[in-house]
Amino acid sequence: MTGLRWQSAEELHRAVSAGELSCTEAARACLDVIAAVNPTLNALITVTPETALEQAGELDAARAGGGAMPALAGVPVVVKDNICTRGIPTTCGSRILSGYRPPYDATVVERLRAAGAVLVGKANLDEFAMGSSNENSAFGPARNPWDLERVPGGSSGGSAASVAAGMAPLALGSDTGGSIRQPASFCGVVGLRPTYGRVSRYGLTAFASSMDQIGPVTRTVEDNARLFSVISGHDPRDATSLTAGPESPAFEEGVRGLRIGIPAEYFAEGTDSEVAAAVNRSASLLEEAGASLVEVALPHTSYAVATYYIVANAEASSNLARYDGIRYGTRAAGRDLAEQYERTRSEGFGAEVKRRILVGTYVLSAGYREAYYESAQRCRTLIAQDFQRAFESADVLLGPAAPAPAFPLGSRTDDPLAMYLSDAYTIPASLAGLPALSFPCGFSKQGLPIGAQLTGKAMSEAVLYRTARVCEEGLGLLDRHPK
Ligand code: GLN
Repeated sequence: MTGLRWQSAEELHRAVSAGELSCTEAARACLDVIAAVNPTLNALITVTPETALEQAGELDAARAGGGAMPALAGVPVVVKDNICTRGIPTTCGSRILSGYRPPYDATVVERLRAAGAVLVGKANLDEFAMGSSNENSAFGPARNPWDLERVPGGSSGGSAASVAAGMAPLALGSDTGGSIRQPASFCGVVGLRPTYGRVSRYGLTAFASSMDQIGPVTRTVEDNARLFSVISGHDPRDATSLTAGPESPAFEEGVRGLRIGIPAEYFAEGTDSEVAAAVNRSASLLEEAGASLVEVALPHTSYAVATYYIVANAEASSNLARYDGIRYGTRAAGRDLAEQYERTRSEGFGAEVKRRILVGTYVLSAGYREAYYESAQRCRTLIAQDFQRAFESADVLLGPAAPAPAFPLGSRTDDPLAMYLSDAYTIPASLAGLPALSFPCGFSKQGLPIGAQLTGKAMSEAVLYRTARVCEEGLGLLDRHPK
């Protein structure tokens, strides 16, 4: 079992295809690890052993009957619990959805199943994906496998922690303002936020629809690319879905001739010196591999966090209006309809979700809409234009994924602003709809993972993967696992 724990999806798939390993063995090994470590890490809200073993058994039977093994056959996967899974509780980390079992699968879940991936559990998250530490979950915080007293990041903290802890080689997260990249960097794993529209949002619980994207979380860059190619591609059920199909990164091409842009604003005061040093190490590796480094400017970076918290909360206030105690989950009794709505929402939602609904409603209200919401939309355009300009002289941008490594549990829960600032470097790409990849680029003296972020032009995921692969190879961190 321990022999399987740290295997990549690629290795597992090879063993399954060669008939050296059954899908049932792979699923059992993974369920054993989950049983051993999940009680401590709280990375999964729901574990699904019955459906996992049933699905693995079906795959084994298919193989025995001579069927071809699809791209992820027998590979265990964890799915963030704001992504709908038919018949399996989908909580969004909220009390308001207790008892809810979706009657359908999200498109990404359908695609995982078709590719033979075996769902082993639903990952913990900040309630409705609102947060940066997983501490806003109604199911208690997940913990960082590298240091149990620290947060795994958020909101996809459970997805990142489970992959880092060897509970599964693959996970899906969702990223609105950094929720894949920041936890990936805190947990020492690889996380991609795809170009907006490249992965279907059908079945992803909406938070801020103009930014929400589902993306892969894995230990290796190649696994990330493999999972991305399975989940991406057009979906007629998502009106913002792009028509482009998946492409595979030409890893063998390397980075020779690639222009790597270094934005000075991402190394500003407030960025930990160990983080800056680790990211610079990756820059040097890329240079040695034949890329050139160029300085670029993203002058509106300092407005990104404020812009995001206006736009995202405005959209959230509208999206979360549907939780009225009638259509989904729990209902609190009231003397009349208004009281029923009020009590359901005040008992069902946690403090951060309420804060955001209030702010979002305020910035959209008559008299304030122009001052807040419309100015934020203008800022959003300026931030997108910064990137357009930067991409005239660079092909990819490199910087830190977060200003500092994982922080201690409880250290920012009373200070929403400090919490929001941990997303300063992930939010700009979200506002601009661009793809961005976080990969492990080193460790702090205390042994905490540090993540670097690559941001690319729209649809340039393959270039991000090629670039990250060069660093992954040069850094040689893949054998390092949490205790
Ligand atoms: N941490 C950011 C927030 O709290 C991003 C969340 C996300 O990407 N879902 O909104």
